[in-house]
Order: sequence, then C-alpha cells, then structure tokens
Amino acid sequence: MSTIDVKKLVKKFHGQTVLHGIDLQVNAGEVVAIIGPSGSGKTTLLRSINLLEIPDAGTITVGNIEIDASVPMSKQKEKVRKLRQQVGFVFQNFNLFPHRSVLENIIEGPVIVKGESRVKAEAYARQLLAKVGLVGKESAYPRRLSGGQQQRVAIARALAMNPEVILFDEPTSALDPELVGEVLNTIKALALEHRTLVIVTHEMSFARDVADRAIFMDQGKIVEQGPAKDLFSNPQHDRTKQFLEKFL
Ligand code: ADP
Repeated sequence: MSTIDVKKLVKKFHGQTVLHGIDLQVNAGEVVAIIGPSGSGKTTLLRSINLLEIPDAGTITVGNIEIDASVPMSKQKEKVRKLRQQVGFVFQNFNLFPHRSVLENIIEGPVIVKGESRVKAEAYARQLLAKVGLVGKESAYPRRLSGGQQQRVAIARALAMNPEVILFDEPTSALDPELVGEVLNTIKALALEHRTLVIVTHEMSFARDVADRAIFMDQGKIVEQGPAKDLFSNPQHDRTKQFLEKFL
C-alpha cells in the first residue's frame, strides 16, 4: 500500500487552475524529488498533501486517512488533524517560533498536539538534536543560529512527531550557498534510513543522487517521472530535456 496516494487533484487560485488533476503515489520508504520550472505547481502540490492548501477536487490519502475534496473540509476536520500529524513539513523559510528556544520549538508538537510528557519529549528532542548535529544548541533562540542550523532544527521538529512522511519545500533555497551542504547532508541521512520523503528542490545533483524517483512538473501537470538516475541521464520528454539542459 502507498503511504501517499493523491488522485485527480485539482487546485485553483482565483479561478485559475494551477494543478490539473494530479495523480501521485509514494510508497513507504521511498524518496521522491519533485523538480520543474518556477510556477509549475510543485509547492502547491506539496502543500496540498498536507492540506495547507485545500484542493478543489480529488482525494488525498496518507496512510489510512482519506480526505475527499468533494466533502466540505468543515465536515472532515478530525481527519485533517490526524492527517497533519502523519505529515511533517519543512518550509523554505524554516518557520521556527522566534521567541522559543530550539528545544521548545522541537517539543511543541509532541507536548501540545500529542499530549506527551515534557520529560519524554525533551529526551527525544535531545536525541534528534544529536542526529542533526546540533548538540549544545538546546537553549539557543532561532535568530542566534545560521540559516543552515535553523533548517536543521526545523527538520528535528518535523521528526519529533514521528510522521509517516516528511515533505520538504525547497529546503535549501533560502540559504547562503555555503550552508546548503549541511542541510542536504541531513536530508540524505534520513533518506539512508529509508524514511518516506518528498522533496521539492532545485538542487539537481542532490535529486539525482539521493532520490529514488524524480518527478518533472510543468504547467500544473506531471510531465514525466521515473527512477531519478534515468530521468536525469535520459529524459524522454522534450520539456524535461529543455529544463534539465539549463543545469548542465
Ligand atoms: P512552483 O512551486 O513550481 O514554483 P507554485 O506551486 O508556487 O509553483 O505556483 C503555481 C502557480 O500557482 C503559480 O502560477 C503561482 O503564481 C500560483 N499560486 C501559488 N500560490 C498562490 C496563492 N496563494 N494565491 C494565488 N496564486 C498562487
């Protein structure tokens, strides 16, 4: 069974269709990179999986929770809440709480949303900080950290909820070039643990080397997808070829 199963997803903004009936399945343990030109709908697709954008049509299933866009969201609030608990989201701009320490940022979800004890949540948060290479930063506030460190805190925060899947929305595009590598290495380590990851990225060599599957989107549609190495070395569609040529 797929961890993520998106069927016939349509999303419009102000009457303009930006996702034209997307079908997307992601299996447990699979790492999927979504690439494509700016404005092709990559971020909207990712945000729709987490219902940060409410779809106009189609269904979104994560694990055993299915959200049907033809049913008003007000009638499936509990399912939306449960789905969001299963889906970690790492934003381009980190979205940490600025007035909370690193540790408080990480334990917020487990304590407030899941009702875990503070002691247990803190112990796990410390383990996660070790995993992302930030031991000793527990009491630091986000503004005192580099962008790369903030993004690694955001990744630890996503992991703290033990989600089924983590979605990354251009996780390195707000970073200075010298900080990109530390964040990509952190994501690579998660990929090697066979976690289920979906990553919107402009880092083509990372997508080629780390993703199992790459998906090329253009104008609100999936144009081509396949094993990442094949898609990059031997794209089939003219639009994919044109897009990838810019990165050579
Ligand atoms: P990508 O991630 O591939 O750059 P996006 O998903 O951000 O593409 O955007 C797809 C299209 O939807 C673009 O035309 C963009 O302008 C439009 N769009 C995205 N978010 C909004 C929004 N909140 N309101 C109106 N239009 C939006």
